[in-house]
Amino acid sequence: MYYPPAYPPAVDVPNAENRRGVKWAGPDARKAYDMNTTPDYPIGTPGSPWGAPEVALWRSRQRVQRSYAQDVLEAVDLLRERFDVAPYGQLNYGTDHYPLLAVRSRRWDETLPSALVTGGVHGYETSGVHGALQFLDRHTAGYEGRVNLLVVPCVSPWAYERIQRWNAEAVDPNRSFVTDSPAGESGALMALLAPMGDQWLVHIDLHETTDTDESEFRPALAARDGKPSGPGMIPDGFYLVGDSENPQPRFQQAIIEAVAKVTHIAPADPQGEIIGSPVVSPGVINYPVKSLGLCAGVTDARYRTTTEVYPDSPRATPQQCNDAQVAAVCAAIEFGLAHRD
Ligand SMILES: [Zn+2]
Repeated sequence: MYYPPAYPPAVDVPNAENRRGVKWAGPDARKAYDMNTTPDYPIGTPGSPWGAPEVALWRSRQRVQRSYAQDVLEAVDLLRERFDVAPYGQLNYGTDHYPLLAVRSRRWDETLPSALVTGGVHGYETSGVHGALQFLDRHTAGYEGRVNLLVVPCVSPWAYERIQRWNAEAVDPNRSFVTDSPAGESGALMALLAPMGDQWLVHIDLHETTDTDESEFRPALAARDGKPSGPGMIPDGFYLVGDSENPQPRFQQAIIEAVAKVTHIAPADPQGEIIGSPVVSPGVINYPVKSLGLCAGVTDARYRTTTEVYPDSPRATPQQCNDAQVAAVCAAIEFGLAHRD
């Protein structure tokens, strides 16, 4: 089922310096771009943060467009012959109930290093979920006896079904990996990991950057928080977000090299940046992941990163996006195993 978009569709604003052009939304796109202001989001009052009525209105506009039970729970069921499946909680939103599942190596060996793979922290970022499932199904044979694997394929199932960034309370799970998390999705994952300690060598968190970030999710964020928002650029290609407090440039570069064989890597913009952050090496930017409450900071893994696949490129198919996520996961684990000391 499709639903009327909550925001006017994106249009291209030509920009000679950017070969894809700046994506911006609404009929007054050029005006909006020139004035560096955002057209009004259809919920709330510009300049005022949302309260409960605005959140409820926003939630009422979200529609189920795909099935977590069918796409994720059934896929996980098929993995039960080869892996242990660990339930780690349930999210309850009204009459909707979402069991949360992690998939782990059958023979967990405390003497081995461990790798964590998370997908679907942003539910709309499809290849994060399906890349994690594809990795489990097809690419784990070589890791037995070398590394313990814990894969959480869909951290935010309510949003997966609605192709949304936020959870049902208009909270971004990927800013919520903090003490007393405001997001049940993040809190449940933190509770799963808490008793597992510091065994993590690698953590890779699978994401996408999409055109709807610019047309819907950034304007929604500005509206929710009562802040202005200007246009940004959506990079054309894959990139990584490393940890500025633990950057591990060789690790990030090993992943970029592996993914470049599958899909194109995002170039820096004319300012030498990707989404407003300096490009520190081809296809890599860094954020302070722990202080931002990002999932990539949920463990103390020495090697940690966030993938950003770009699914809206005419040069990338959905399968290629899944393959890019898998290539990133495999390269991350192999690098970690080769550089333990
Ligand atoms: Zn994301």
